[in-house]
Amino acid sequence: NRQTLLASRPVGAPVPDNFKLVETPVPHPGEGQMLLRNLWMSLDPYMRGRMSDAKSYADPVAVGDVMPCGAVSRVMESNLDGFAAGDLVMCYTAGWQDYSLSNGSMVFKLDPNMAEPSQALGVLGMPGFTGYMGLLDIGQPKAGETVVVAAATGPVGSVVGQVAKLKGCRVIGIAGGPDKCAYAVDELGFDACLDHKLDSLANDLANACPDGIDVYFENVGGKVFDAVMPLLNPHSRVPICGLIAQYNATELPPGPDRLPQLMRLMLSQRIRMQAFIIFDNYGPHYPEFLQTMTPWVAEGKVKVREDRVEGLENAPQAFIGMLEGQNFGKMVVKIAD
Ligand code: NDP
Repeated sequence: NRQTLLASRPVGAPVPDNFKLVETPVPHPGEGQMLLRNLWMSLDPYMRGRMSDAKSYADPVAVGDVMPCGAVSRVMESNLDGFAAGDLVMCYTAGWQDYSLSNGSMVFKLDPNMAEPSQALGVLGMPGFTGYMGLLDIGQPKAGETVVVAAATGPVGSVVGQVAKLKGCRVIGIAGGPDKCAYAVDELGFDACLDHKLDSLANDLANACPDGIDVYFENVGGKVFDAVMPLLNPHSRVPICGLIAQYNATELPPGPDRLPQLMRLMLSQRIRMQAFIIFDNYGPHYPEFLQTMTPWVAEGKVKVREDRVEGLENAPQAFIGMLEGQNFGKMVVKIAD
């Protein structure tokens, strides 16, 4: 059983030495447990938080423990009611390893005939659910309003933008580089998509949002938020989902301090900013999300792009790259057939 451990805590951006691949015996499931063979592993930005021991909504991974992740897995052996050998499942506690033991908690059965099981890690899983709930419940988009989302081609942002289009909104994406921006417009159907690597971002965004911004779905923070802030309309909504521009930061951003300006803006424009952590806030809505999103994906109303890497040993590099935008679509690692 190959396992990827957290070897040391990163300072700034993670490096390959923060991870260690080890070989251990395949575990045996005890009473009330099942053995899973992990097939597709998910790489997600939240894992950067778990590598750090800074205070957060979830406990850090201990140095020497298996890196956490969700996976699409095959049940190999089961001593658990409701699960049998051969079942295909989505396990949210699988970890970066070939095999894992589970007691059935946070495990969901998948349709064994599902065309693309890895989609259970993206559009039909945690990230898609995050984009859907954050947009609809906190963002409350109305037809004709302007919705802005960054990390626009990733699994969260692409769902936010496409669902907002289905609700009749004008959607402006923000992404890194011309290829991602072209994809957001040509394939995902966004009205425009702006490159945050250009110095002209703030101007470009103001030009693309002549009526201001009604919903800003926050995935990024940093200079993207600086560009958004002056454009927020009265009564605009800002679901705070992620701040990936800051995850590797080792110090505060350069001044001046924008906090007083932000508080004043929130008051004068009566802006609703609300942070959420998907399964913490919305777990009971997961079945209803799947009921809506599954046909949208099957009918092509919501398009999906994955960035697939092969081999557990390649997961650290893929993860390091994702934090810097080298992924194009949902980052998944295939570790077995
Ligand atoms: P993505 O697949 O979109 O990958 C992250 C992307 O972030 C990169 O590809 C890159 O896209 C972008 N990015 C990285 N650094 C910067 C930067 N400095 N400025 C602008 N963009 C940057 O990830 P996900 O869709 O899985 O996640 C998106 C966000 O949602 C993350 O912040 C994540 O933490 C958050 N999240 C929150 C959840 C919750 O429960 N609150 C649950 C799931 C995700 P590009 O090249 O386009 O810039």
